Amino acid sequence: METVVVVRYSEIGLKGKNREWFEKKLIDNILKIVKPAAVNKRYGRIIVRIGRNNADLILERLHYVFGIQNYSLGVSVGHDLEELKQVVLDLAKKHVNEGLKTFKINAQRGYKDFPMTSLEINREFGAYVLQAFPHLKVDVHNPEFEIGIDVREKEIFVFSGKIQSSGGLPVGVSGRALLLLSGGIDSPVAGWYAMRRGLELQTVTFLSPPLTTEKSEEKVLSVGKVLSKYLPNGLRMWIVPLTEVQTYIKENAPDEYSLILQRRSMMRIASMIARRVKAKAVITGENLGQVASQTIENMAAIEEASSLIVLRPLVGFDKVEITNKAKEIGTFEISIKPYIDSCVAFAPKHPATRSNINELREIEAKLGKLHELEFEAFKSRKSYRIVSEE
Ligand code: ATP
Ligand code: MG
Repeated sequence: METVVVVRYSEIGLKGKNREWFEKKLIDNILKIVKPAAVNKRYGRIIVRIGRNNADLILERLHYVFGIQNYSLGVSVGHDLEELKQVVLDLAKKHVNEGLKTFKINAQRGYKDFPMTSLEINREFGAYVLQAFPHLKVDVHNPEFEIGIDVREKEIFVFSGKIQSSGGLPVGVSGRALLLLSGGIDSPVAGWYAMRRGLELQTVTFLSPPLTTEKSEEKVLSVGKVLSKYLPNGLRMWIVPLTEVQTYIKENAPDEYSLILQRRSMMRIASMIARRVKAKAVITGENLGQVASQTIENMAAIEEASSLIVLRPLVGFDKVEITNKAKEIGTFEISIKPYIDSCVAFAPKHPATRSNINELREIEAKLGKLHELEFEAFKSRKSYRIVSEE
């Protein structure tokens, strides 16, 4: 008998080479967080063999692996009916002690040479449980606990309860992307959705020292720590001082355009970093219409400064939904702390709501030192590597 976790992943929509790649990446990602426990693929499931390792810790970590639908803690036994019976009774006892009163056995027989059908297993093992705990009742529709018996060629898995995971695709299958991470509520959530579609994330944050203090940096690093739990290789974070660029824009360009111009500078610097780290896309937490400056025209004007595709995972969400997600993933409490990020410090009084790309280009053409200052900011970037140790 051996303690295992049976991991189930969704294969819907994954065909041919894609699927192989998906499975390999998922196994790699799981292996990294459960090490030194062994992991193998069996019968369309992934089995984590706990061995002497800490089962609670492994269960906790699997929650953060994108690509997993759900998983169950259980045991693996051989084709030995006595041993199987004992394991089923032990599991039932555990639930009886929790005060649960109705149950069902849910057998699946992937190995057709096994001498009993799944129906026979359900009946026979249900009867064993009733014999041992006569006050229990079978409820096939809405049981308080369910014991799964999964009969395979070389072993039988017994488990109860399914823990939901985060779904999506394994981190890395879609390549790498760079998230523009601010101190606000939205961008960490955008990063979460990007990772969920298989993107391996790095982040870049623009700060305005000394207007922003150490606290602003600490705040983004704490957000990074939460995001890093989803990344089997940890999170690379870039911090760029934007003060000189912002001051130059503020002093030399029309006030109403200064926000968009700053954002365009951010995009150009982010693109430089992205190219260095071989990221294929830039992610933002922009959301259509949320604030007066988030119009389609302004987004287009910001995006035009990027040399990479810009993805905006939050474009279809309401603020309430984004806030709820932020609470669920644990970034909300950090994001609402009041340390200013770079933009707030240099925000114009009346930001333009409909910018025109040609006009912006003309303004930028007159800002002779802009690109030089952007390059200086890029060269002054700092980097951190955040590895979740939970
Ligand atoms: P957030 O809550 O993510 O700050 P927001 O609703 O406040 O978003 P904006 O302030 O307009 O919206 O920012 C839009 C997006 O631009 C952010 O989601 C983020 O991706 C990027 N961004 C803004 N400021 C910064 C910054 N200082 N550093 C890095 N990215 C930034
Ligand atoms: Mg913001």
